[in-house]
Amino acid sequence: MHRAPLIMVCTCEIAGQVRGKAFPASELPARMTSGVGWVPSMTMISALGPTADTPFGLTGELILVPDPATEVQVEFGDDGEPEHFFLGDLRETDGTPWSCCPRDFARRAIAALQHEARLQVLAAFEHEFTYTGIEARGGAAFSLDAFRRQGAFGAMLVAAMTQAGLQPDSFLPEYGPRQFEVTVAPARGLRAADQAVITREMVRATAHRLNSRALLTPAPEPNDTGNGVHVHLSLLGPDGAPALPDPAGRFGLSPAGRSFAAGILDHQAALVALTAPSPVSALRLRPDRIAPTHVYLADRDRGASLRLCPGLQLPGMDPRRQLNLEYRAADATASPYFALGAIVWAGLDGIRRGLDLPPHADVADMDDAARSLAGIPRLPATLDEALDRLEATEAARDWFGPVLFDAYLRHKRAELRMVAELNETALCELYAQLF
Ligand code: GLU
Ligand code: MG
Repeated sequence: MHRAPLIMVCTCEIAGQVRGKAFPASELPARMTSGVGWVPSMTMISALGPTADTPFGLTGELILVPDPATEVQVEFGDDGEPEHFFLGDLRETDGTPWSCCPRDFARRAIAALQHEARLQVLAAFEHEFTYTGIEARGGAAFSLDAFRRQGAFGAMLVAAMTQAGLQPDSFLPEYGPRQFEVTVAPARGLRAADQAVITREMVRATAHRLNSRALLTPAPEPNDTGNGVHVHLSLLGPDGAPALPDPAGRFGLSPAGRSFAAGILDHQAALVALTAPSPVSALRLRPDRIAPTHVYLADRDRGASLRLCPGLQLPGMDPRRQLNLEYRAADATASPYFALGAIVWAGLDGIRRGLDLPPHADVADMDDAARSLAGIPRLPATLDEALDRLEATEAARDWFGPVLFDAYLRHKRAELRMVAELNETALCELYAQLF
């Protein structure tokens, strides 16, 4: 039987799922302009599937238009169809951006940072996940044996990512049972978020080719280490030179770098509603999981919500280029567009307000209880709390615009209602199916 190749154009909306529509490859030239049809209420489809609440009803008409810069075409060398998809923008039928387009949310943040502060963001999303194609075994953390037993998965993943136009940086067996991590080279602006979507899909696609799954859920089990997404961020000035470092500044950061970091910290409780945005996300952000519980910046501290990653000071290396901020309170149930956009909006708000880092920022040696006693703010304990913080954040109304702000809050609150009766174990099982 002959096969007519299909190409899919996708978006990653509030639910964090990558959804889209496919068309015959022969139609690609026309589809680059006209896209595929979309409906406003599709943005309200929950991660679970049902749409429990929508401000849009059944009305409206949108198009999802592929961005040529995002094309992914990957052959796995087996009998299966190649992966062939684009990421796209949600537009009104006259071609203008739709108010709830996730890529436009990130694009506007990145443009505002460029316009107002003359700074470009350079970012890389680090992904952890659970690979089901290997037995869970004690003592395997970071082990050569866990690396060996994942078989061809890592090598296939790296090949797929490379074909997809990414530059893989590392692949490793992580701390948790069956847990692995993959990192990529950073990219500028929106491309960093596109790369995160593509990375997740290459992880899923590779596992699928091996009749397995990659679970990207933040909490595979209620009481174990979770799968984090860490967003590494640096800033570039108008000349392309690193704009974060300043050896004379506190933490070695420039005034703009400190304000950017302070803005993120100032808004972090609200940001979690976009960066760790599922009912299950909070189960990861608990003590003793190498994940953050409190809001603070620290140098080389993996308990910090914002970690300062130093540059290597080895011959031939420029530590200024390597210095970056690692936002640790994120996971793969977040759309990378909302996550990156929100972080950039918050950082820009810090620059607009000329914020400096809070005095308590250096708390690396304290344990969790001591941090609370010292008045270090806690990350929200639930998504419910994070959404309330987001709703109370006046500045965020401007970042989103009224339609998206309302849609976002309603979407996530409806998701919370859907899982309200589940205990932690059932919640973990459900999100392991969904992500
Ligand atoms: N698994 C941890 C998390 O949930 C992170 C471990 C690490 O620092 O790589 O964020
Ligand atoms: Mg890790």
